[in-house]
Amino acid sequence: MEYRELGNTGLIVSRLCFGGLVIGPLQKNLSVEEGGEVIAEALRLGVNFIDTADLYNTYQHIKRAIDITGITPVIASKSYAYDIEGAKKTVDRALTELGMDKIDCFLMHEQESEHTIRGHREALEYYLELKKQGVIKAVGISTHHIAAVRAAAKTPEIDVIHPITNINGLGICDGTMEEMLEALKEAYDNGKAIYGMKPFGGGNLLHSFKDCLEFVTSIPYLHSIALGMQSIEEVRMNVELFNDLKNAGEKIKDYQPVNKKALHVDFWCEKCGKCVRRCKQNALSLENGKISVDYEKCVLCGYCSSSCPAFALKIY
Ligand code: SF4
Ligand code: SF4
Repeated sequence: MEYRELGNTGLIVSRLCFGGLVIGPLQKNLSVEEGGEVIAEALRLGVNFIDTADLYNTYQHIKRAIDITGITPVIASKSYAYDIEGAKKTVDRALTELGMDKIDCFLMHEQESEHTIRGHREALEYYLELKKQGVIKAVGISTHHIAAVRAAAKTPEIDVIHPITNINGLGICDGTMEEMLEALKEAYDNGKAIYGMKPFGGGNLLHSFKDCLEFVTSIPYLHSIALGMQSIEEVRMNVELFNDLKNAGEKIKDYQPVNKKALHVDFWCEKCGKCVRRCKQNALSLENGKISVDYEKCVLCGYCSSSCPAFALKIY
């Protein structure tokens, strides 16, 4: 496994980052024990970087993996908090549930532009204060927007950027992958730590697995790449590929993903429209009394399901 220095943070991370969304309740919904075993295998095999979020509800799975293996990885989490109270609550929750007194990276979740970053300034100030105290090592943003990458690139207080990056630019809300690459170069040149998300478009691009993997791993501006993994077998396969990226194309040329995932709407949907408003990809619509999913736009993030009061949205 190759390790890189994560921008100017002083953290050293594996090129393969364990994406913590998939094992949690928004997607595969593994128990703490099962999810802990999946993460533990990744840690044993040299993955030392885990991405999660307050929204994902996977802190306990991560703690379980740390307890099983005795290995403490670099952990990045994120929160939607925009004020001090919310920021404090989410950092406290992360530390309590992870059983730690420090966290490596804390990000502002789903930033869209300089305007949303400004709107989260109070939370950002709180994280920066914790950084001074040594509780947080690096502060950053996650984003599906090129404008937010550009804004973060110019903001000295922001250390880390977690942008959506895949061969088709699937899920980028405001431009193309070429434009995203230009923005990432600017951020990289400014010393930002950058780790990509959704290299396979949340599963939508699995049919061109080889091309997707070769594309993201050849981007020079990505220090690491977060990949959601839901089973021990998936962990072993991905680690094997990342351990020998030069020959990965050859190894996976015949790979046929068996589990194509999709978002499903259960019949007890109450047609409230909350999920439509929650989806930043405009992949959902409420027409003729029915929720429709635009599968071309859906990146299978599962965020809509967290807004559904009827628990009627599931990815499987
Ligand atoms: S429909 Fe749901 S899972 Fe798909 S992109 Fe929108 S929020 Fe994410
Ligand atoms: S949020 Fe849930 S209940 Fe409301 S429209 Fe969407 S799927 Fe239906």
